[in-house]
Amino acid sequence: MSAQQTIHVGGEWRSAASGATREIIDPADATVFALVAEGGTEDTDAAVAAARRAFDEGEWPRTPVAERAALLRRVADLLQRNREALGSLESRDAGKTLEEGRVDVDCVADAFRYFADLVMNESGGRVVDAGSDEIHSVVVHEPVGVCALITPWNYPLLQASWKIAPALAAGNTFVVKPSEITPLATVELIHLLEEAGLPDGVANIVTGAGDPVGARLAEHPDVDLVSFTGGLSSGTKVMRAAADSVKKVALELGGKNPNVVFADACESDEDFDTAVDQALNAAFIHSGQVCSAGSRLIVEESLRERFVGELARRAEKIRLGRGTDDGVECGPLVSPQQLAKTEEYVASALAEGAVLLAGGRRPEGEGYEGYFYRPTVLDQCHREMRVVREEVFGPVLTVETFRTEDEAVALANDTEYGLAGAVWTADPGRARRVAGRLRHGTVWINDFHPYLPQAEWGGFGKSGIGRELGPAGLAEYREAKHIYQNLAPRPVRWFAG
Ligand code: NAD
Repeated sequence: MSAQQTIHVGGEWRSAASGATREIIDPADATVFALVAEGGTEDTDAAVAAARRAFDEGEWPRTPVAERAALLRRVADLLQRNREALGSLESRDAGKTLEEGRVDVDCVADAFRYFADLVMNESGGRVVDAGSDEIHSVVVHEPVGVCALITPWNYPLLQASWKIAPALAAGNTFVVKPSEITPLATVELIHLLEEAGLPDGVANIVTGAGDPVGARLAEHPDVDLVSFTGGLSSGTKVMRAAADSVKKVALELGGKNPNVVFADACESDEDFDTAVDQALNAAFIHSGQVCSAGSRLIVEESLRERFVGELARRAEKIRLGRGTDDGVECGPLVSPQQLAKTEEYVASALAEGAVLLAGGRRPEGEGYEGYFYRPTVLDQCHREMRVVREEVFGPVLTVETFRTEDEAVALANDTEYGLAGAVWTADPGRARRVAGRLRHGTVWINDFHPYLPQAEWGGFGKSGIGRELGPAGLAEYREAKHIYQNLAPRPVRWFAG
């Protein structure tokens, strides 16, 4: 297997300056299936220098908006053309099912189209009434400059696109650093940006580890903004590293997301089935490796036994396997570390008194040589347990109960995170009351997981700083500038002499 040239600097594909490479592992069978360049500080500095030149001297920041939008639309078309190949690459790299990989590609194309439309529909600057005909005052928005985009392994292409599309729409240049575990689809995306005609130096990628590549990007004095998606512990390091150069920081971090189910949501058998089905989906899609996974089921006490019994029965039937195999519903965890972490959380929960209703083990037999773990339901949990407080990022659902609406809200808000949550109820008044009181960046009522490119995504509390998607997702990549023009300048005479 030959090492790929996966570092892209100033329009040129390269190996790492050091010659180092990294093996990319298929999590379904723990075999090596690709080699990428293992970039270091030298590669990172070269990429930032290229992005800096392209911003300061290149055409992209000054390219008319209509041309930038047209390029983003071409990228969306190319993504759609390569849907099958990209979807299956993402499936193999991250362990998700092929169908999830395909849906991710569709969502990525949607994000490119959304930001193209958004910049095209803007009216330009905002004229400010300065109270005089002799003053013309306008606020304009300009690209922030060189952006460092650091992304995680669970939705590699999607998370990269939520940064790349608005960064480009706003006229920035960037260096992207994908997760070292799942870099392949992001490398392909850079090829597509090239094919779409993006000028050299605007899009740069350095494959490599969080430290040194991500850490260097976060501290680099020539980087104007760092947008990071990943875990809380790396996010705080990024924020610290960015402080000395006072760069703009956007953080999309973890979540410990409540799924609150009131008994009135399950009065008919059909509604019961829907709420159980969605709770299953909330917790176990992509083996729970989703920042917004509904990993905390908070169910009304009177409904608990029936709801949790059915949930556990269905969890036991989830079909695990390689994401590209027919009929597979859940792939493996992404790495041995993620598997070990999941096992450790389940063991700690059981030691603290949780009751295992489903899963709690690796599947056995042929076809499970990779990092598989059975979807796990833990009953009788409470908020002092680590498994309830901390993000597992694996297929583990904890169950807590409540008796009153106030209690449900208090439990759902009792987290240091605040990314997403859901409330299930047939009572519209209760739905609005609870949604209004939840301290989470996204609240679903009688649903779980959907997002819209037009609506902001991000978190309260330690789930992050700033927003992706929506108009705020574009604003992250811009600086506001007030231009005040005096049409009839006269002396001020503040000073008499
Ligand atoms: P991670 O923090 O380990 O890594 C994320 C990225 O940061 C990787 O590219 C990594 O190489 C890099 N990195 C690591 N240390 C760094 C450092 N010191 N400086 C700069 N970069 C560094 O996270 P992960 O395990 O890849 O992803 C899982 C986490 O991502 C979960 O916590 C999940 O909730 C979060 N996530 C959040 C969202 C969201 O929208 N809020 C979306 C997806 C994932």
